Amino acid sequence: MATTIDTPTASHAAGFLQGTKQLLIDGQLVDAASGRTFETLDPGTGRVLATVAEGDAEDIDRAVRAARRAFEGPWSKLNPSERGRILHRVGDLIIEHGEELAELDSLDNGKPKAVALAADVALAADLFWYMAGWATKIKGGTVSPSVPYLPGAEFHAYTLREPLGVVGQVIPWNFPLLMAAWKLGPALTTGNTVVLKPAEQTPLSALRLGELLLEAGVPAGVVNVVPGYGETAGAALAAHDGVDKIAFTGSTEVGKIIARAATGNLKRVSLELGGKSPNVIFDDADVDAAIAGAAQGIFFNQGEVCSAGSRLYVAEQHFDQVVEGVSAAARGIKVGHGMHPDTEMGPLVSQEQFDRVTGYLKKGQEEGSSAVTGGNAIDRDGFYVEPTVITGAGADHAIVREEVFGPVIAALPFSDVDDLARQANDSHYGLAAGVWTRDVSKAHQLAKRIQAGTVHVNTYHVFAAELPFGGYKQSGWGREMGEEVLNNYLETKSVIVAL
Ligand code: ADP
Repeated sequence: MATTIDTPTASHAAGFLQGTKQLLIDGQLVDAASGRTFETLDPGTGRVLATVAEGDAEDIDRAVRAARRAFEGPWSKLNPSERGRILHRVGDLIIEHGEELAELDSLDNGKPKAVALAADVALAADLFWYMAGWATKIKGGTVSPSVPYLPGAEFHAYTLREPLGVVGQVIPWNFPLLMAAWKLGPALTTGNTVVLKPAEQTPLSALRLGELLLEAGVPAGVVNVVPGYGETAGAALAAHDGVDKIAFTGSTEVGKIIARAATGNLKRVSLELGGKSPNVIFDDADVDAAIAGAAQGIFFNQGEVCSAGSRLYVAEQHFDQVVEGVSAAARGIKVGHGMHPDTEMGPLVSQEQFDRVTGYLKKGQEEGSSAVTGGNAIDRDGFYVEPTVITGAGADHAIVREEVFGPVIAALPFSDVDDLARQANDSHYGLAAGVWTRDVSKAHQLAKRIQAGTVHVNTYHVFAAELPFGGYKQSGWGREMGEEVLNNYLETKSVIVAL
């Protein structure tokens, strides 16, 4: 079993954790209209971490009105260069407050603070810097139209790219700060205003980021942060007629609810949803590198990553070696409280997530697969499970078909590349994939055949602000990051002038 270690202490985040955390609406910290609050837990101990104002439909409505005023007022009056410079400062402030933000995400989500600092904080800052650059580079084009029914007529035509208006954003708990950055950066650089609803499990870093946005010079009302539950605050935002677009990251199941809720006013919808990503190790792979990559692909962030490589397909002749290698890596992971400096893997985010993951482990056993290593909860306060490697699962087993969203990998042998490609694509998800081989042609061929928004070759979990990220099939609509995400937040207008 993986070793477990203890003990949290927050130094940088201690100040922010004092008192009830309020909603951020129109530049002000305010109580919920209902006066209600909810508690967010430290999943590493199961104890209360902070009390937070519980936003619901009335607060969402107030925030949407503030966002509309800010859209029509101060935000549209800033020129793109000013907007870009403000967003660049947000990136700087994220780094300046990196220790505090990393502690908030570690305590609220469970992830190791060192990981939060090296990955979440660094990527969030970089995303704002990257998006800041786009503010001055959004442009349409000129067109010379040929209009068959107006012979001889001459036109000058051009396109304008315009912001949508008020954007609602609903984000998950697995990368609380980073998901807020992924959503806010592109929405703001394109000139929209936002109502952001963080996940009820992890509302803290988004609230702190909201304060930093104000400090950077984002005018009041441009970004409103309203923590609350999905079924109340989130549903109200998705259905609100004053919202022009809803952007969501979370489960496929809730993504469908959001899409349905958006039909009232046909607001724009973008969705970044679940995955069950295949990671493929060929016979000619660097096996040691592939083992390390397969372990990192599933165990990073407790496996709570939508693009986790949770289906491991291994060429038959390497199967035993790879299973043993990934199992040894799993056994070597130091599991403990996220704030302990030695911790490599933290607890799952919540009791609900713990029940879900342990439920899948139990179901796997019932279906006839077995855990080579792990397979159990860890008996201590908080929501810990063992890093787990499963073999013997059938292609129709839940552990192979459904998103577990935990540190659980199912390893399956393959012998034929066509059959492998069929199995890899035999999923209603299509978010990511990995391919391990020394044969360049094979890598590119499989990259083309796999139905996924991201294909890694001889690496896994590479995220960068410049690279579009999103899903084929039921893994979503649209892309996050890269130039491509700007399309999620812009309308195109054609202007035609008769000469
Ligand atoms: P998980 O099941 O892993 O917790 P969800 O997809 O349920 O992930 O949650 C992601 C986000 O969606 C959270 O902010 C949550 O509050 C929100 N959410 C959940 N249900 C709804 C809903 N019916 N309408 C809008 N948002 C929702």
